[in-house]
Order: sequence, then C-alpha cells, then structure tokens
Amino acid sequence: MSTRPLVRFEQVQKSYDGETFVVKDLNLDIQQGEFLSLLGPSGSGKTTCLMMLAGFEYPTTGNIYLDQQNINRVPPHQRNIGMVFQNYALFPHMTVEKNLEYPLKVRRLPASERKAKVRKALEMVQMEAFAKRYPAQMSGGQQQRIALARALVFEPKLVLMDEPLGALDKQLREHMQLELKALHQSLGITFVYVTHDQSEALTMSDRVAVFNDGIIQQISSVNTLYEAPQNPFVANFVGDNNLLTGTLSHTDGDMCQITLGDGSVIHGLNVNHTATGHAAALSIRPERIQVMAAPTHNCIPAQITNTVYLGDHVRLICKTHDQQEISIKQQVSQLSADTSLAPGAWLSLQLPPAFARVFTA
Ligand code: ADP
Ligand code: MG
Repeated sequence: MSTRPLVRFEQVQKSYDGETFVVKDLNLDIQQGEFLSLLGPSGSGKTTCLMMLAGFEYPTTGNIYLDQQNINRVPPHQRNIGMVFQNYALFPHMTVEKNLEYPLKVRRLPASERKAKVRKALEMVQMEAFAKRYPAQMSGGQQQRIALARALVFEPKLVLMDEPLGALDKQLREHMQLELKALHQSLGITFVYVTHDQSEALTMSDRVAVFNDGIIQQISSVNTLYEAPQNPFVANFVGDNNLLTGTLSHTDGDMCQITLGDGSVIHGLNVNHTATGHAAALSIRPERIQVMAAPTHNCIPAQITNTVYLGDHVRLICKTHDQQEISIKQQVSQLSADTSLAPGAWLSLQLPPAFARVFTA
C-alpha cells in the first residue's frame, strides 16, 4: 500500500440538526486500491460518511481530502467518484447502453470514445448481451450489475457502494459478493463499501471499519477484527461471541486474571491494560472453548441447556452457576465419547488464555 492515502477524513463531524453529532471526530485514511468496508448497525453513521465523501452532504466541522486536495466544497460531479446504491437508480426510460453513456455525456466525452467505454464497462460485468434492454426487462441482479457498470464507465479512481446488494436474495447476494471482490482485484480501483452485514464485510474487504454511534470502534484487517477485537461491541458485532462478566483480579503485563461471577478465576489477555479492581468482561469465540472430561486449569463449570447437532460440529448452549450463558461450537470428533451432551449435564469448559480477551469499561 502507498503511504499517501487516496482519501483522508480529518476530525470530521456531522450534525443534521445542529444539536447531535451523528458522525463524531472521524479520522480515517483510505489507501489507494483497497477494499474498505464501513460496517455497523443501522443509524451508526455509515451512509452519512459515504455521502460526505461523495459530496451530497457536507461536514459540519473538519476536512475531507481526495488526492491531497481539500474537497469540502467540491460538488459531487467534480469529484470523479463512482457510486452504486441499493435501489439501482437506473434511468427507467433509457436502455442499458444509454444509461451507461449518460455519465460520459455529462463529462462531455465525444461520441466515438463513449461507445468504446460503454462496451468495455459492459464486458467488465459480463452484460454485453443486454445493451438494448430497458431496466424493467432485467432481474434485480442484472440491474445491479448495470448500476455497477455505470459507476465504472468513466474510470473513476474511487467507487462508493451503499448496501448495493441489500435488495437481492441470499444466494444471488453471496454470488455478487464474490464477483465484486474479483472485479476489485482485477481493476485495482479503490472501493468503499457500506454494509450492516458482517459476513458480507468479511467476505470482500481488505479492511473493515466498524461503526457504532458515529464512532469507528475499530479499523483493521478482516482477520484481526475477528481474532483480536478491541472492545466488546466489536467482539459481539463481528462473528459469534461469548461475553462473561466479572472483576479484574490480577494483571501481569499483557496477561491478567478475571474473577467471574461464579468465583472461577480465568487467565486471559489484558486487552485494555487497566488496573485491577475494575468491572471486566471476558470475550471468547464459541469455537475456541474446549470441552474437557475433567476440570483442569482455566476451566469454568457450566450446565448444558441445549444441544444442537449440525453434522460436522455440535453447538452447545450452557449456563454457568451464576446463570451466564455460554455458547460452544465443537467438532464432534474432538469430543470424548463418554462426555454426556444431554441437557442438564455439567461440563468443564476450558477457556484457552490466548483466546480469552478481557476488556474493562
Ligand atoms: P447508517 O447508514 O449507518 O444506517 P446514517 O448515516 O444513515 O446511518 O444515519 C445516521 C444518523 O443520522 C441516524 O440517526 C439518522 O436518522 C440520521 N440522519 C441520516 N440522514 C439524515 C438526514 N438527511 N437528515 C436528518 N438526519 C439524518
Ligand atoms: Mg445507511
């Protein structure tokens, strides 16, 4: 990655009503050529960020740079940014060809160049055969491909997408995710993609910025986001997670001990490096918990409330003595044959310290 970012948000804040900020102190660098997703629940400020980058909204305070140029007051059509929305927004009275030609006409390209570029954009999304169709004569997935081609036709450096697959059914959505990822890899254009769907973000992105309440909670590679969440919100929003509450009872550099509500003392990673005595939460993924035949170190007793067989693995829902719920995903082959998985049975659950992340508020 280059060291000079393509886009820089510098202390950007946005308020629509002059009272509450829906984007707060946003500092974000977007690197040339990356696929960055803005992931977060509804209302967390993702679309507002994208709209400010596109030029349809302006920051209340702070600055946005594109290629080192301050673009705070540059109108959308002068930013040379491609955009794709959830509701395709193709012109219904124009054929596919005319839809794709439109952004080129606006940019005053001569007719001869327009034809070649339209053909190339249709090739990119493998829709050459649909040039003469009208939007209403195509499926949702086909329309969305055309919308993508229209965002690419004028060869922008940056393409912004806001939940572009939201209206498609699950199977087509997953297929299009892989297509978008492949297209990104072949074009080398920078993609910024808004979604509330964590699996979509994980599938496609180089990096993900997790938003909550107008604030980026964490920005990192997909792998780091899943394996090393920086706070309970990220741990819970990305992937399945267990969160057990207790008190930080001992710290030792990067490691610590948390005393859980049932008195169990568990070693884990001291993520926030806080002093002892604070209320804390231990976060661990269901697949990292080991079901042991007998109690050993770093174990917590828990009683099975529900067992679900899923072929290759089994999902166990358990409760601790103090009624905290723990979900476990275990390979069937890893379970000892004499371990009872019947509801009501007590298990020893080992929480390996390297995967037990302890957060303090
Ligand atoms: P997201 O895309 O993450 O769902 P948005 O950026 O759309 O979030 O919205 C963030 C907050 O800003 C929400 O509380 C929303 O109601 C508010 N909001 C969004 N657009 C407008 C607008 N044009 N006028 C007033 N409030 C808005
Ligand atoms: Mg939105």
